Amino acid sequence: MNHYDLIVVGSGPAGRRAAIQAAKLEKSVLVIERGRRVGGVSVHTGTIPSKTLRETALNLTGWRERGFYGQSYRVKQDISADDLRRRLLITLDHEVEVLEHQFSRNRVQHVRGAAHFIDPNTLEVEKTDGEVMRVAGKSVLLAVGTRPYRPTHIPFDGKSIIDSDELLEIHTVPRSLIVVGAGVIGIEYATIFSALDTQVTVIEPRQTMLDFIDREIVEDFTYQLRDRNMKLIFGQSVEKIEKDAGGKCRIELSNGRALQSEMVLFAAGRVGATDSLNLAAAGLEADSRGRLKVDPETFQTAVSHIYAAGDVVGFPSLASTSMEQGRIAARHAVGAPASEPPQYFPYGIYAVPEISTCGLTEEEVGERNIPYETGIAHFRETSRGHIMGLDSGLLKMIFSRKTRRLLGVHIVGEGATELVHIGQAVLNLKGTVDYFVENTFNYPTLAEAYKIAGLDAWNRMGEGPKEAPVATGQSLDSALTDMKKAASN
Ligand SMILES: Cc1cc2nc3c(=O)[nH]c(=O)nc-3n(C[C@H](O)[C@H](O)[C@H](O)COP(=O)(O)OP(=O)(O)OC[C@H]3O[C@@H](n4cnc5c(N)ncnc54)[C@H](O)[C@@H]3O)c2cc1C
Repeated sequence: MNHYDLIVVGSGPAGRRAAIQAAKLEKSVLVIERGRRVGGVSVHTGTIPSKTLRETALNLTGWRERGFYGQSYRVKQDISADDLRRRLLITLDHEVEVLEHQFSRNRVQHVRGAAHFIDPNTLEVEKTDGEVMRVAGKSVLLAVGTRPYRPTHIPFDGKSIIDSDELLEIHTVPRSLIVVGAGVIGIEYATIFSALDTQVTVIEPRQTMLDFIDREIVEDFTYQLRDRNMKLIFGQSVEKIEKDAGGKCRIELSNGRALQSEMVLFAAGRVGATDSLNLAAAGLEADSRGRLKVDPETFQTAVSHIYAAGDVVGFPSLASTSMEQGRIAARHAVGAPASEPPQYFPYGIYAVPEISTCGLTEEEVGERNIPYETGIAHFRETSRGHIMGLDSGLLKMIFSRKTRRLLGVHIVGEGATELVHIGQAVLNLKGTVDYFVENTFNYPTLAEAYKIAGLDAWNRMGEGPKEAPVATGQSLDSALTDMKKAASN
C-alpha cells in the first residue's frame, strides 16, 4: 500500500488547488478522481460549461449589439444545440489539458476511481478498470463537491425534464422552458435561454430571489427580465410534473395553476457528494444535505487529520472560494503557516445581465445601524456605455458616513463580474469615498462608473476631515514611496 502526506479526494477547484499547494511544499500528494477526466463540476458540468454557453449565446445572438442595431438583430439565425456545444468542447479540452499539465509539472499523482474510507487514514479506490487499490494518507482532504438535488417526485428523463448537468447534453434549443428554482444556477440558465429567444418561466417557492444580493440591484435585474418578457412566478412550488400526449411537459403548481413547456430544468438545490465515502469508517457524519462541518479557519473536520473544502462544506459554494479554501486546508494539513482569507470576496452571477457584488448590502448596513450614504452610477452616464449602446447597467456603492470607508459595491450589467474587483480592492484595503473622487480612471471605460458613483455619494457626504482615514491608515503616496524605497534597497 502506498503512503502519502496528503490524499485529496476530488479534482475540482478545491482539490486541485490543495494538491498543487501541498506539492509545492514538497509533500507527496495523491488525487483520487472518479470522473472521466480531472477538473470536477467546475470544469465539466458547472462553472466553465455554463459560462462558455453564455458567451456563445451572447455572441451568436448578437445580444451585446442590439442596443444599436435593434432587438431583431441576430448574428446567426436558428441557433442549434450543436452550435452551442461546439465551443464548449474546445474550451473544456483546453481546461483539462492545463490541469493535467499542472499536475504533472508539480509531480501530483492522480488516479481515476471512486474512493471510500476503510479507516480514518486508509482509503480504498475502485478504479474504472475494476482494479481495487488501498492508499494511506497522513492527512486526507475531502473535496468531493456536490451533485444536483433530484427529488423522487420529479420524473427526470434526461431529455425534456432535466437537471443542470443534463442541460449540457440537450439535442435541441427548446422554444419554451420552465426553470424550477430561482437560485444562481436556475437564474443563470433561465436568462441565457431567454437570450436565445426561448420563452422562459421561472418558478420559485419563496417570495423573493437572490436574497444575499442588495435589493436595489435585484429590483433592477428583475425589471430587466420582465421587460424582455420572462415570466417570474414567486411563492409557488411545483406539485407535479408530467408529460402530455403531445410530449409537452405539464407542471402543476401549488395554487392549482397548470403550465406547459417543451422543457423543464429542475435547478432547486444541490447536495454534498458524500454518500459513497463510507464516512462512518472515518468517524465522520454528513448533515441531511450531505454537507460536512468544518472549522472555518483551518477546514478541519471533527477528525483532526481529515479536512474538507469546497462546495461540500456549503456556502458560498463558488469555484473561486473553493480554490482558496483548498489552499488554506492543504497548508494547514502539512503544517505550513496559512493566512486567513480576506474578509470580503466577490460574488459573481453570470446571468444576462451579470450581477456582481462584494461587501455589505444596503440591508445589512441598515441592520447593523451603521450611518451610511450610497452613490449610484448608471452605465448610460458613461461615454463607454454610449459607445457600447448600453441602456441598462447600474453600479452602487455604500459608504460609512462616519469613517467614509467603502462598505459594499454592487453592480448589475455588462462586465459586472470584472468591474467588481476595483471595489473589492478598495474595500479590502479599507479605502474611502475620497479614493474614487480623487483618482483618475481610464476614459472612456465602464470603470468610470466608480468615479460617478463616488461623486454621487460625496455630493451628499461632503468633504471629509483632512486627516480622514485613507487606505490602510497610510496615504497611497507614502505607501508607494515605501515600496520604491524597498525596491531600491
Ligand atoms: C451550473 C453551475 C454553474 C456554476 N457557476 C459558477 C461560477 O460562475 N462561478 C463560480 O465561482 N462557481 C460556479 N459554480 C460553482 C462551482 O462549480 C463550484 O463551487 C466548484 O466546482 C466546487 O468545487 P469543489 O472543488 O468543491 O468540487 P467539484 O468541482 O464539485 O468537484 C468534486 C469532484 O470530486 C469528485 N468526487 C466526488 N466523490 C468522489 C469519490 N468518492 N471518489 C473520487 N472522486 C470523487 C467528483 O467526480 C468531482 O469531480 C457553478 C456550479 C454549477 C453547477
